[in-house]
Amino acid sequence: MAQQWDVVIVGGGLAGYVAANYLAKMDMSILIVEKGKKVGGRARTEKINQHYFNLGPHALYKKGKAAPILEELGIKLNGKSPKLGGILIENDIEYTAPFDPLGLLTTRLLNWREKMEWVAILKNINSLDTEKLAKQTFQQWVMQVTLSKRVQSLLYTLGRLTTYCHAPEMVSARVIVSHMKIGMDMEIASIIEKNEENCRKIYSRSKQKIARIESESLNYENNKSIINRFIHAFEMKNMNVLLDLISENVTLYSDGGGKVNAAIRPITSISNVLALLYGVVKKAPKDFYFEIRNVNGQPALVNYMNGSLQSIVSFYISHERINEIYIIMNPDKLPKL
Ligand SMILES: Cc1cc2nc3c(=O)[nH]c(=O)nc-3n(C[C@H](O)[C@H](O)[C@H](O)COP(=O)(O)OP(=O)(O)OC[C@H]3O[C@@H](n4cnc5c(N)ncnc54)[C@H](O)[C@@H]3O)c2cc1C
Repeated sequence: MAQQWDVVIVGGGLAGYVAANYLAKMDMSILIVEKGKKVGGRARTEKINQHYFNLGPHALYKKGKAAPILEELGIKLNGKSPKLGGILIENDIEYTAPFDPLGLLTTRLLNWREKMEWVAILKNINSLDTEKLAKQTFQQWVMQVTLSKRVQSLLYTLGRLTTYCHAPEMVSARVIVSHMKIGMDMEIASIIEKNEENCRKIYSRSKQKIARIESESLNYENNKSIINRFIHAFEMKNMNVLLDLISENVTLYSDGGGKVNAAIRPITSISNVLALLYGVVKKAPKDFYFEIRNVNGQPALVNYMNGSLQSIVSFYISHERINEIYIIMNPDKLPKL
């Protein structure tokens, strides 16, 4: 006669084993059916030449679902909480991850405005009722909370890091954001310092700082004069003035949209940026000319070649120095002037 089971569990992963454990406690007979050659699913450890290789999990989230289950099942946990922080790599450039207060302050991945946005989003995640996100995808949620491409990509990175799921256009925002909430709990707490009073102080100090930086950096006439001085010093190859006008941490971004030649990676440091600019100017044809025009409310160099618009160079200026240079050559992004 065939064996009878109270419950048959399909799948011998963590979930299957946890269910089996609870059911067994109720004196039920259980059969786990596993299609793979080994049990464990994604949480498996392989032993190869005396070395153990974890296939899946690297961290057990203290506030996740597994911790209380393990405790209830009498399984003791060893290990410590990892240090906050880390490094993020984009286009082969390393950036300090803004996952802890120091990382947030020092990273060059985000500018000040994006840093503020990032803190506001973390704060929002911390107090969010994730059930309300059940009807939207993670991608829809990300697009809704920020327009900044950098912050969006940071959210996708964090979502992937905490869930190992990379289908933001399909997966539910509720699932990813609730995992981010659990995974980032300590980090969010330390970044926003949980204490409301402290939060308000940091927020208002940062807001004042940003308002100051923004009002400095958005002063049209002041920025135009800095750009004019920069052009003059560039033409005269006056290094002393150039060093005065350009931040030592300057970064140049160029966008050719894959249709025209452009530097694929951001260029950092004064010497690299100047070398690139002098190289570009050297190759410019005789009919190349530029004018300073108002682009999106700020002075920018509008460049022409063969009588038509070739590129726009815009600047992020703060503390009287050029901090970032953006060269747009992508024909799809150039306005019809
Ligand atoms: C690289 C990586 C890193 C991760 N890091 C973390 C982490 O740090 N922290 C964390 O909490 N989580 C992490 N996870 C996620 C975690 O490993 C999974 O959430 C967990 O192991 C899922 O368990 P599960 O039982 O739900 O599914 P699975 O582990 O996928 O188990 C399902 C099992 O069912 C079997 N099966 C499927 N269909 C059938 C069928 N028709 N018949 C019979 N058997 C079937 C499969 O072979 C598999 O063994 C990570 C995952 C990966 C891949």
